[in-house]
Amino acid sequence: MEATQTSQKTVDQVWAKRPLIISGPCSAETEEQVIETATQLAKTGKIDALRAGIWKPRTRPGSFEGIGTKGLAWLQQARKITGLPLAVEVATAKQVEDALHFDIDILWIGARTTVNPFSVQEVADALRGVKLPVLIKNPINPDLELWIGAAERVAKAGVEKIGLIHRGFSSYGNTEYRNAPMWHLAIEMKRRNPGMMMICDPSHISGRRDILQAVAQKSLDLDYDGLMIESHIDPDNAWSDAKQQVTPAKLVELLDGLLWRREMVEEAAPVLDKLREQINHIDDELMQLLSQRMKIADNIGQFKKDNNITILQTNRWNEILEKAFKKGEKLGLTKEFIVKYFDAVHMESINHQNNIMNS
Ligand code: PEP
Ligand code: MN
Repeated sequence: MEATQTSQKTVDQVWAKRPLIISGPCSAETEEQVIETATQLAKTGKIDALRAGIWKPRTRPGSFEGIGTKGLAWLQQARKITGLPLAVEVATAKQVEDALHFDIDILWIGARTTVNPFSVQEVADALRGVKLPVLIKNPINPDLELWIGAAERVAKAGVEKIGLIHRGFSSYGNTEYRNAPMWHLAIEMKRRNPGMMMICDPSHISGRRDILQAVAQKSLDLDYDGLMIESHIDPDNAWSDAKQQVTPAKLVELLDGLLWRREMVEEAAPVLDKLREQINHIDDELMQLLSQRMKIADNIGQFKKDNNITILQTNRWNEILEKAFKKGEKLGLTKEFIVKYFDAVHMESINHQNNIMNS
């Protein structure tokens, strides 16, 4: 096994670095490609760790399924030259064993693995007693419990450095994104795991180059701890995920174009406190009004019960929505929000009426 480079930051230092920037090709393809990408990335001085897929979980057989274990030796070589720590995806016990054998620094569990508790447990068991940091991608389906479960399984195996990667959720049909970000799920995941590192993978969310930066910026504005972005010396001819990879030079442009905002500063606190006080006040009033609204729904429920009338009146519901869209537009509220808000209020109102009518 190769000696650790003196220029290499320790993995502890890398793990603590904010923002943490991981980049490298979707897949290791050839020795030259790995080393050239790593060299160009290292030269930028903006990268903390080198990623490369060695075993690729492809959706359909026949796509490039990864170069396999020999790619680990190329990665070692790249680390020797650049000093960049190495991050690799693992999905089976054997892959963990191989990655450990080649002294990989950081492991990650991919989205197609996080969905399967058997696979996560297999990886977790193989990690018992191992001190490496492990990053866990969100599962491909929007199920927070699976993501949390995977983190718990890895934690139970004794892994202490656990981080999360938000890479979006798959959906049926063509959308703007390859994997819909569903930011609210990642925000909820952060809320439920305070202090756990969360980085964004704009590459797999976007699936294309033109929106990478906007997605990355959004994650920074949500106070993420870092980014994992795929890069390749010749993206158009990449053996996997060609459409979303960028050259190291483009990556620098992208990173330089991002605004890294501060979480909080002392002088901002009084100003924000005042504005937040106003928000709290309005939230209180909204709650009071909603409670009043539901009391009226109760009365309507009683009336409908006495007169044997159905709860749902589709015409009335349409009328409410149409009116709200028009009014919302004038008030600067999006149609999307109006639908969500009225859906929630309407459902709560139906539940109230249902309780009365069937009590
Ligand atoms: C990858 O990082 O190349 C990868 C396969 O990602 P995901 O698990 O997010 O699909
Ligand atoms: Mn990829």
